[in-house]
Amino acid sequence: MEPVVFLDRDNTLIANDGDLGDPARVTLLDGVPEGLRRLRDAGYRLVVVTNQGGVARGRYEEEDVDRVHREIAGLVDLAADRRGLVDRFYYCPFHPEAVIDAYRREHPWRKPQPGMLLQASRDLGIDLRSSWMVGDQPRDVQAGSAAGCRTILIGPGREAEGEASPTAIANDFTDAVDIVLASGRPQRARGESSNELAQLRRAIEDLNETTRPRGTGTARMIGAGLMIVAPLPFVAGLIFLDEPQTFFAWMLVTVVVMLAAIGCLLLERR
Ligand SMILES: [Mg+2]
Repeated sequence: MEPVVFLDRDNTLIANDGDLGDPARVTLLDGVPEGLRRLRDAGYRLVVVTNQGGVARGRYEEEDVDRVHREIAGLVDLAADRRGLVDRFYYCPFHPEAVIDAYRREHPWRKPQPGMLLQASRDLGIDLRSSWMVGDQPRDVQAGSAAGCRTILIGPGREAEGEASPTAIANDFTDAVDIVLASGRPQRARGESSNELAQLRRAIEDLNETTRPRGTGTARMIGAGLMIVAPLPFVAGLIFLDEPQTFFAWMLVTVVVMLAAIGCLLLERR
C-alpha cells in the first residue's frame, strides 16, 4: 500500500479559468514539474483528480479531456526529465445541470464527493491515511477529507471556508510540496518496503491499465455477434461446393464478416 498525493488539475497544476479542451492551451504553473519530481522521489504516487463539467456543458468531449491529460503528462515528463511522473488521471464529466442528457446527473466522482479518490485507492492499492489531497478550491479539501486524506488548500492569504478545513494552506504549488515533504517520509505498508517490489507492482498495474478495454462495450458486442454468425455463410458456401462461383461468393462473405468482427474487437481495445 503506497501513499499518494492527489492533485487537483485546474489552477493547481495548470492555468485554467475556463473550459479547456484544447491541448495547445495547456500551460503548467510555476514549479509543477519540479514539485512532482520531488514528491515522486520521496515515495509518493501522483494521481490527478479533476471535475470536468465542460463535457456536460458540451464545451468539449471526453476525448479532448484525454488529449489534454496526455499533453500535461508529456509536458511534466519533459520538464522534469522523467517518464510517467503522473501515475493516473481521473476526471468526472458529469454535472447535475448538464446540457447533454447523458451527463446530467450528480455523480459520486464529482468533487466535493470523494469518489475519484476512493476509486483510485481501489485501483492502485493506496493507503489513504498517509496520502494527501492538494487543490485550490474548498471542494478539493472536502473531497480529500472525506476520503481520509490530509489536505492542502493552495492560495495566498486563503483561509478555511465553510466545510473545508484543510490540514494546511499553501502559497503556491512549491509551498504545498514543501509542506507534504516536511510531514516526513511516507510510510509503506509492511511487506512492501522494497523499492524494486513497489516499482514492479506499479509496472504490472500500468500494463493492466494499458491493455484494459476502454470502449463502451458496443463494438465488443457487435464484434462478438459477427463472430457467432460468421460460420453461417461458410456453411452456405459448402452447400454450393459444386458451383464454384456461388461457393467463392459465400467464402468472400465469410471473410468480410470475420474481418468486420476483428475490426470491432480491435476498435474496442483502442
Ligand atoms: Mg482547481
